[in-house]
Amino acid sequence: MSDTITAVKGMNDVLPADSSRWEHLETVFRQVLAAHGYRNIRTPIVEPTALFVRGLGEVTDIVEKEMYSFEDKLNGEHLTLRPEATAGVVRASIEHNLLYEGGQRLYYFGPMFRHERPQRGRYRQFHQMGAEALGFPGAEVDAELIVMAHQLWQSLGLSGIELHLNSLGQPEERKRHRQALIEHLQAHAEVLDEDARRRLHTNPLRILDTKNPAMQPVVESAPQLLDFLGEASLAHFNQVKAVLDAHGLTYTINPRLVRGMDYYNLTVFEFVTHQLGSQGTICGGGRYDHLITQMGGKPAPAVGWALGVERVLELLKEQSAPVKPATCDAYVIVTEPSAYAQLMPVLSGLRALGLKVLMHAAAQSGAGQQVSLGSMKSQFKKADASGAQWALIVGSDELAQGQLTLKHLRENDHPQRTHLLSDWPQWGPLLKSVA
Ligand code: ATP
Ligand code: MG
Repeated sequence: MSDTITAVKGMNDVLPADSSRWEHLETVFRQVLAAHGYRNIRTPIVEPTALFVRGLGEVTDIVEKEMYSFEDKLNGEHLTLRPEATAGVVRASIEHNLLYEGGQRLYYFGPMFRHERPQRGRYRQFHQMGAEALGFPGAEVDAELIVMAHQLWQSLGLSGIELHLNSLGQPEERKRHRQALIEHLQAHAEVLDEDARRRLHTNPLRILDTKNPAMQPVVESAPQLLDFLGEASLAHFNQVKAVLDAHGLTYTINPRLVRGMDYYNLTVFEFVTHQLGSQGTICGGGRYDHLITQMGGKPAPAVGWALGVERVLELLKEQSAPVKPATCDAYVIVTEPSAYAQLMPVLSGLRALGLKVLMHAAAQSGAGQQVSLGSMKSQFKKADASGAQWALIVGSDELAQGQLTLKHLRENDHPQRTHLLSDWPQWGPLLKSVA
């Protein structure tokens, strides 16, 4: 055998055994989002590199080291596989003047790309589902988004998910905090790692987001942004909390929660689980009132979140019974290749009645790779394994008469019946009525 080609490291196939869980999550996600009035938006996977540099901020993990960027061979354009979708959604809303008619509640689902070290819950191609509410300034929409994510966990039957909440205030408040923070960090310069030293004057807030255990004491004793918030910022934060309290959602105020992107202000939050090891953040989001202006749009507030699909699915796997594989209603047993021409229109008719029909097909086997339909016995085995309730048997006798035999596979005392193939509008519905 020649060398086979395998998938790119950190990029995964989703095989049929797992895809039913994916589809389940997609269905529940769409239901929950639609119930809150969110509508689907689909933006390209490839965007101009400048979109992310401008949108996410130059001194962020993503822009500094995680982007898949390349030059278009034909025209030299600098392009990037999207590492997240908010920047693209904002670009699209500006480009198509979506906010012209007022606020927009949007959701998306799709693959994202980040050049990270692959490990459990961290991949190079991964998927996010996200919600963005553009054009709404009030804390009620921050709260609605958080309640909506919580509703999603409930609808999926997930438990043990904690909500962490913080407020990043406004840029002027951050500026005053930043000064105090730089002074604090400089006073402990000896324990700062290379990343932190580099960010000390460019983006010190992000140093608080460090995963380096050696820096935890400095980070824990740092001045807290919450103490620098003015009246309006505090009122916004209190309103978010009041709505969550009234809704019975519990949360932890985490003053060190700063999130990975530069664009956030006011409310930031994460949903975290202890059941997935160190990749425990399954969803994160917050307000980004200044991004739309920064991207060249007319000033408009915005807030949103994104969840990591692989991590949510991993949690579902830990916590719930396996999703039952899809089964079919009828398996069609065929002994003569010449039967297919007569059969195919009948099967289409049955499917139009809403039945799931699996048609037996020839296989190659043996040293000579002979093509054959296999014995009746082996076909019955396949029919049984398919989960079908019924076998539709078209043997050579039936075929000669233009007939088929219906056999119930799960109840032995059910009488077998023979019908004309062309009478399918009469006998087809019987396959539905007997479960
Ligand atoms: P982390 O701190 O784990 O790197 P992040 O802050 O970079 O997360 P966001 O950009 O906020 O993550 O993305 C939202 C969610 O997407 C995360 O909470 C996580 O569930 C998921 N996610 C992010 N990066 C990856 C990845 N490389 N592989 C799988 N899921 C990811
Ligand atoms: Mg990250």
